[in-house]
Amino acid sequence: MKAALAGADGTLLHEARRPTGRERGPADVVETILGFATELRDLGRERFGSTAVAAGVAVPGIVDEAAGIAVYAANLGWRDVPMRELLSRRLGGVPVALGHDVRTGGLAEGRIGAGRDTDRFLFVPLGTGIAGAIGIGGGIEAGAHGSAGEIGHIVVRPGGRECGCRQRGCLETVASAAAVGRDWAAVCGDPAAGAADCARAVESGDRRAREVWQHAVDALADGLVTALTLLDPRTLIIGGGLAEAGDTLFAPLREAVRRRVTFQRLPSIVPAALGDAAGCLGAGLLAWDLLSTEVTA
Ligand SMILES: [Zn+2]
Repeated sequence: MKAALAGADGTLLHEARRPTGRERGPADVVETILGFATELRDLGRERFGSTAVAAGVAVPGIVDEAAGIAVYAANLGWRDVPMRELLSRRLGGVPVALGHDVRTGGLAEGRIGAGRDTDRFLFVPLGTGIAGAIGIGGGIEAGAHGSAGEIGHIVVRPGGRECGCRQRGCLETVASAAAVGRDWAAVCGDPAAGAADCARAVESGDRRAREVWQHAVDALADGLVTALTLLDPRTLIIGGGLAEAGDTLFAPLREAVRRRVTFQRLPSIVPAALGDAAGCLGAGLLAWDLLSTEVTA
């Protein structure tokens, strides 16, 4: 997990990382979060002479942002953790915001990253899975049940590979960094090969790698065109491990999307700007939002 102390102007004053400790179970993960936040608060007080006035935390899985509850996370094993209340109590009653990791990362990309000055965007990180955040007018659309933007589970190859969500042929089974890595490992015969290795092989002109890569790019374009047909975003912000391939991804992806659209307006397709710090920066923005809401209320 990543944590930071952020100044009023968004400056990062201090950054830190540590393991979640998830192998010890969900209660330990929650305690690690609370302890990490407390240490950061104390460090801020020592170093800057004033204590943190609010906190933001972003977690994966299903998140009820309005209620401040971390509902479910398969990889962390928790259910219905009242994160906002727990953290606020530990930090002496300061206001705390709870966000969903990808939506919070999307908020940061929208306000201070690749979507700055864009009123409508879709942020799609391509990592172990594929998720999405729908940016509208400075905020992120969470949906009625907190699951808007799950573009990774749009079925792009009906009857295809089984997905963790129990559908078949979901976008993330074909075009996530994990899927590309697995496909390339099977083709090149090195079980340790990943998506970055596939990208390098594409760049060196390997024909088999180009096939694996194009297979993923085509699926990704199918999913993105479905999304842009529904949402009409001005900008598509693509992040995560696969986006680190740069033009090796963006050149064929722009072309594949352009070939598919007919009446739809083509959005600009750009790399994310904040890397894996996006969620952490977004959590800071959520915290500042709490304070500005209090002032105006
Ligand atoms: Zn799925």
